[in-house]
Amino acid sequence: MAFNCPHCNHKSVSHFSKFLSFEGSPATCSNCGKHSIDAKGVNDSYRQIVFLGFVVFGALSIFTQTILYLVIWFAFTTMFPIYSLYCIPLEPIETKKVKHYKTKKLVSISIFSVLILLVAIFE
Ligand SMILES: [Zn+2]
Repeated sequence: MAFNCPHCNHKSVSHFSKFLSFEGSPATCSNCGKHSIDAKGVNDSYRQIVFLGFVVFGALSIFTQTILYLVIWFAFTTMFPIYSLYCIPLEPIETKKVKHYKTKKLVSISIFSVLILLVAIFE
């Protein structure tokens, strides 16, 4: 299953590219080759909230000696991508507007993997 490209309207943007899309590294349509990103920079804010939330809820969990807060954080972390994937539309972005910080995608993937790893250790 895939999502419709906002340029050519073909179902050619994969879940993975939609989820990881942001201004510096948008999803590329396999049909027309044009770029699109999640509307309103939702993906980028999500990654920042997840990181901030991990620090805040992680501290709360340690402070209160209960994993309740980490569970709340984990629920948000896993539920939001589903919301983002199915409820946030893709919006077109011009190729010349794509910013030059490609490494940011790698950084966010690594942060995300580290967080999942940390949760696995805590559990
Ligand atoms: Zn397209």
